[in-house]
Amino acid sequence: MPLFLYFGLFVEILVIQVSLIFLMIKLRVGKTNFFRIPLNMLMFLIISLITAGVFHSLGGSHGEQALQSGAVAVVAYAITQIVVNQILLQLIGRYLYKRKVKWVDQGVKWELLTTALVAPAGLMLYYVYTEIGLSSIYLIGFPFLLISIMLRQFHKTSQVNQYLQKTGDIGHELTGKLGVEEVLDVFVKRVTSLLPLDYLYIFDVKTDHTMTLIRFFDRIDNVELPELNLVEQKSISIDTWKYGKGKHYHTRKKWKHLENTHTPENVESVMSIPITRQNKTVGIITMYSTQPRAFFKYQYMILNILGSYLAVAIENARHYERTKNESERCPLTSLYNYRYFENYLQLISEEWRTEEKHRPVSQILLDIDHFKLVNDDFGHEAGNEILCELANRLETIIGPRGIVARYGGEEFVILLPDYSSSEALNVAEEIKVMITSSPFIIHDHILQTGESVEVFISASIGVASYPENCEDLLELTRHADRAMYVGAKQRGRNRVASYERIKQTAE
Ligand code: GH3
Ligand code: MG
Ligand code: MG
Repeated sequence: MPLFLYFGLFVEILVIQVSLIFLMIKLRVGKTNFFRIPLNMLMFLIISLITAGVFHSLGGSHGEQALQSGAVAVVAYAITQIVVNQILLQLIGRYLYKRKVKWVDQGVKWELLTTALVAPAGLMLYYVYTEIGLSSIYLIGFPFLLISIMLRQFHKTSQVNQYLQKTGDIGHELTGKLGVEEVLDVFVKRVTSLLPLDYLYIFDVKTDHTMTLIRFFDRIDNVELPELNLVEQKSISIDTWKYGKGKHYHTRKKWKHLENTHTPENVESVMSIPITRQNKTVGIITMYSTQPRAFFKYQYMILNILGSYLAVAIENARHYERTKNESERCPLTSLYNYRYFENYLQLISEEWRTEEKHRPVSQILLDIDHFKLVNDDFGHEAGNEILCELANRLETIIGPRGIVARYGGEEFVILLPDYSSSEALNVAEEIKVMITSSPFIIHDHILQTGESVEVFISASIGVASYPENCEDLLELTRHADRAMYVGAKQRGRNRVASYERIKQTAE
């Protein structure tokens, strides 16, 4: 401002442009962001030209008498600077970076605050310069420099506070997630928007001392996940694992000895930390930036906090998943259990109720014939082997068509959404053939010879369908059971019966 007021537009442009180059170097604008240098120079050139235009059109002049031409021109000069700057930032944000920029954000507030500080100081400098010449720079410049330093410190502190707040929010969000995958997804999403990183790697360290990449982020090429086999003999992540200690490098020179063929090109700054649980390393987080000195010390500290949040969140999620699995599945066959099946049926029936069109649902209920004999002849464990084998066969044959559950002892149920009665009868026939056509391999647990024995079994199968056989989906189980017992068991076993047919016979 004082330069402009005293010497005019040309000197102001010259000084601003030279200072910009220094500023860009200080801000470490690297090769990938090089375009920012000419962009900023152009932007400030435009600002200089427009503000000067406003100043002159309001009668502003230069030299010793500059202030006599009126305060209006000077105030307009300062305000135009803020407005044009903001408009240009908007345009650049929208059309160059393609992101929405708020009109009034933290940046505008700082701009106003600094202008309120800088403009009077500039005016003062101009005044004193016209009176005493160059020594005015010491008189005004030195206190101004001190104030700037204080302001910067203040800005940094408020930035760290903001970071800490966001970190706390991320922690909250993470611990609220119940699935491991979900926890990792949220972590990647939040961390990549919080920290200025270009690549992020999350490794899982298993108890058998292997390390696998479970999450990857690449801001530059947007690659989803590179080949998973990223682990080599040496790498930053392996080093972190080996020594159980995090590291923070500012330039590539510092970690060149840990490079391998998978290390991204052009990366400079690195932060890598171990995720620990009860003093054991369970994972590694490593991130790179293409900028040297991209990560500040406080960001390294934040990463460590986030790492502990992640560890806790993953442990909780794993625990939840394990408990959920245990409560939903039968421990012997790993099929869904009776409770899960009932809940599922309830869920579907509610979903179906809200729909107008009556999509069909069929249920198959299957009971092994004379299963007691298998137990009596070969032992209870042999019976268990058959149940497991049958569970596998049922899962394979049904696949994604429906869900299979162990309903009770030697009874299994299958729910087939969108299957009509005749389609379900076909599936039931397939199952009947699948059970009887090849023997089940068991081990004789009574003689304890350990020899394997081939056993042929059969099952009685009942089928019921909605809406053909009932008005409420929840009646399916009762009807399928009835079909199985009356239509198949009582009529000699090893057969498929539908509820429809037994009703007709009864009538
Ligand atoms: P059917 O159904 O043809 O009338 O004869 P069944 O012998 O299969 O019928 P029943 O209901 O009398 O007997 C079921 C048998 O299934 C009795 C029980 O010992 C056996 N069983 C139930 N659950 C298990 C299990 O988890 N493991 C083993 N090995 N056997 C089981
Ligand atoms: Mg039974
Ligand atoms: Mg039975």
